[in-house]
Amino acid sequence: MLAEALSGRKLSYKYWHPLFFIMRKVLCLVLALLVFASVNAYVEYVDCNLELEDEYAIANIMLYIHSKMPANHFSVTMPFHKESAILSINDSLGTIEDYALSDGILRIKTNSSARRRDEIINIEAKLFGLEKERFGNAIIAEFSLATEEKTRVAFRAYGKRIFGFDTGAAFRGSIRDYELRIAGAGPLIVRFGYSDKGKEYGRFLLFNESTLSDDALARGLERANELYFTVPAVLGIELDSNIFGIAVLKDEKYREKINDYSEGVYITGGLIVVKESAFEKDAAPVVLHELTHNFNAKIMNWNSSNTSWFDEALAKFVEYIVRKQLGLRTANLFYGTQSYSDAQYSYVIKPASDWRLLKEYYDKNESFMMEWSADAEGTRKFGYAFVELFLREYVKEHGFGALHRALRELAEIKENVSDARRFSEIVLERLGTRLEPCKRETSEEMLECIEALNKFNPKIPKASVLKLGTERKESVIEFNINDIRRKNIEERFNDFGESLLNFLEKLIRSTEVLVK
Ligand SMILES: [Zn+2]
Repeated sequence: MLAEALSGRKLSYKYWHPLFFIMRKVLCLVLALLVFASVNAYVEYVDCNLELEDEYAIANIMLYIHSKMPANHFSVTMPFHKESAILSINDSLGTIEDYALSDGILRIKTNSSARRRDEIINIEAKLFGLEKERFGNAIIAEFSLATEEKTRVAFRAYGKRIFGFDTGAAFRGSIRDYELRIAGAGPLIVRFGYSDKGKEYGRFLLFNESTLSDDALARGLERANELYFTVPAVLGIELDSNIFGIAVLKDEKYREKINDYSEGVYITGGLIVVKESAFEKDAAPVVLHELTHNFNAKIMNWNSSNTSWFDEALAKFVEYIVRKQLGLRTANLFYGTQSYSDAQYSYVIKPASDWRLLKEYYDKNESFMMEWSADAEGTRKFGYAFVELFLREYVKEHGFGALHRALRELAEIKENVSDARRFSEIVLERLGTRLEPCKRETSEEMLECIEALNKFNPKIPKASVLKLGTERKESVIEFNINDIRRKNIEERFNDFGESLLNFLEKLIRSTEVLVK
């Protein structure tokens, strides 16, 4: 009996805010506005602390000014957070009275005294309206700090449970004990997620906005936590954070807020959002797919183009590996329908996309995948299958070592890249390959390549992992694949027992009818 036709799991994509477009605008603005009375003076270093309260934040900002020529006083003009109230401004001589804040521009003149080369200005202000988005109790806030390009910047936010962040090129961040620290140089824009609620499940901080109970979500989160190592093991890179925020929404709410085709999404600012129906089956592949986007956003924080082919390739590959570890069936890419049955039903899983589309792509010399984004409805299915095929072929041909080396190089890039093709060229150059998976002379050879990649079941490497944070660290992630396999077998056995029991009950009921 053909009860259900499954065409693979629904796709998930990354919700990309125009954060980095804003950033480029601010960058120009900032450089034009930050000027000093003395031409030789500049801000060497900015130390900014943000204490989060319920309705506002208290900012404590220290500007370290240095001048080649000694001066009696210094004048600073800087863009400042729009909705704010200055509480006090001081320098080394005491309170500064001579300042003005209007239209988002703060003008300060330090106290006059004997000529000096160095001065420290301390600004204390109350900031409102940092909140940009909200998913139940999880809040995404945005903060920006104007500086010159060469100014070193340290930023710290605390006072609430901070569970994620994103920032631009040339900045690195760490989250420890729910406190965020960021270090880098130049103008800073940061989005970060925080809350005073949430329930911890290992590395995940859950915001349950669904109709399911916390206990119903626990199993999926525990599995995701057990298989967490898959993400750093595939990427060879880990974030310096031991907590990741995840909000689970009712399906209608998810459709309304995000879209109607995905199951999960990564929100810039550090929040994974998943719809509740994903937790009715194994949710770990979706959760870890979205977690991969979180990691990618730090590795490629210099990508301000809107192409997401490489980002999705890595996320789909992690998802594939996770499904393999869990013993879940996965739709074939481009070719090969799967049929199977359990005690009750028969199933058919159609391949994700069609190999004839891939052939056509090469025959027509197309190259739109170099600019592909998951938002493009017309090429979405094809694109997801294409990028997954690409990464499987890459790892099969070159190994995880080559992927790890390339990602480490990409993580070093500090200049923003806003052109999609330029971004793709940089990525492919570091990988040492072309964006042409299974491109072959004949259809037979292409199908052979596709089939081999559909059977590809790579061994997860126990490699050294680079920790991306305010400091550079290497670590080895410990995992025991046999423990996970044993647990899977136990769970499958229990599930099997349950379905066998259901089947027997049905059989008994139908037998009863016959007896009557
Ligand atoms: Zn995705």
